[in-house]
Amino acid sequence: QVTDTLAKEGPSSPSYDWFQTDSLVTVVIYTKQKDINLDSVIVDHLDDSFRAETIIKDYSYLIHIGLSHEVQEDFSVRVVENVGKIEIVLKKKENASWKCLGHPLENHNSFIPKKDTGLYYRKCQLISKENVTHDTKLFCLMLPPSTHLQVPIGQHVYFKLTITGTELVKPYTPVSDSLLSEFKEQVLPNNKYIYFLIKIYSAGLFTPELDHLQIGDFVSVSNPEGNLKISKFQELEDLFLLAAGTGFTPMVKILNYALTNIPSLRKVKLMFFNKTEDDIIWRSQLEKLAFKDKRFDVEFVLSAPTSEWDGKQGYISPALLSEFLKRSIDKSKVLICICGPTPFTEQGIRLLHDLTFSKYEIHSFTA
Ligand code: FAD
Ligand code: NAD
Repeated sequence: QVTDTLAKEGPSSPSYDWFQTDSLVTVVIYTKQKDINLDSVIVDHLDDSFRAETIIKDYSYLIHIGLSHEVQEDFSVRVVENVGKIEIVLKKKENASWKCLGHPLENHNSFIPKKDTGLYYRKCQLISKENVTHDTKLFCLMLPPSTHLQVPIGQHVYFKLTITGTELVKPYTPVSDSLLSEFKEQVLPNNKYIYFLIKIYSAGLFTPELDHLQIGDFVSVSNPEGNLKISKFQELEDLFLLAAGTGFTPMVKILNYALTNIPSLRKVKLMFFNKTEDDIIWRSQLEKLAFKDKRFDVEFVLSAPTSEWDGKQGYISPALLSEFLKRSIDKSKVLICICGPTPFTEQGIRLLHDLTFSKYEIHSFTA
């Protein structure tokens, strides 16, 4: 009944079914939507509990079942996009026929606005940690084999650690392992690994603890959150990225995505604000990418440069922005993404409005 009422306001409620062979159990989710993909579903199973959360527009459809028999850790997920069907194929531990899939657990078969769902966490293992600047590191985490999770572009996850008996939670934004596909050998198969660029603040609450984790240690990682709509990139011609410090992190996947998937794109420009040259994350990769792809330009702006710096200086300002935000052609379709410390982002949005960009042309990343 609850589902029926909600369906009138939002998308119509999905449903599910299951079937089996001797060795496999397939759970099928009928989303009744066409714009779904492998990002749309997050699957976790732990012991006999099976959990599949499907994100449909701003709603969450949950399947949560105590399985009637044991299954193996690994499984596969398939999406049949044109009919909006998701298939999760589990491997039975024993080749016996199941009479039922299992018993319902908390919130099973619910379809509710995503904002009303709690965050679900699973433990991920620290695989590697690499220095990027004097205070920023590239962390690689591995998802458990019993999890399927892909973080959509522009979204973040939450890390949870217990520090002196208290649970602390902070958001972090996944990046790709590099900006240049040939930069690093892709030794690790993609989907199981998530990369993060994280600045360690020596006086911070959370990041020193994160920095103390040893390879092989675990950190809890939540489902993704965020509100960047990928449809904003359709037919896009000019993409401007304004990043300050670690506010660069959401720009990494945006850059990769835009340069490889948007045929209409004419120009991508990144203005990257930092205190000093030593603070610039992935400077040489950015410069190489600009050299390799003529559609991409990068400009560095320093707020506390040494006397040798002959590039741009200062905080975000009307002069910097009006010079930078030149369209490649008149009336081009434009998107401006902005992320950094709150005063930077707030000031930036004000200046963009003053320059008559509309709110539909601006995406800001905020807490
Ligand atoms: P905090 O304890 O929060 O301290 C940070 C700094 O502020 C320290 O230098 C501290 O000394 C100083 N400070 C703290 N309190 C005060 C005070 N009252 N007065 C003056 N100074 C103070 N960060 C990344 O590195 N990478 C990411 O990908 C990333 N993604 C994010 C995504 C989102 C959506 C958001 C909102 C934030 C993101 N962040 C990211 C920031 C991250 O969530 C943390 O805020 C950051 O790691 C700092 O955490 P901390 O607990 O170590 O430091
Ligand atoms: P930082 O202190 O190194 O500063 C980087 C630059 O930001 C400075 O050089 C300056 O140009 C600008 N800046 C700083 N303070 C400013 C102010 N008061 N007014 C105008 N401009 C200012 O930055 P950091 O330590 O790397 O911090 C990055 C920030 O980005 C953090 O606050 C983090 O929470 C935020 N962040 C947010 C998201 C998100 O919302 N999705 C993602 C990643 C990072």
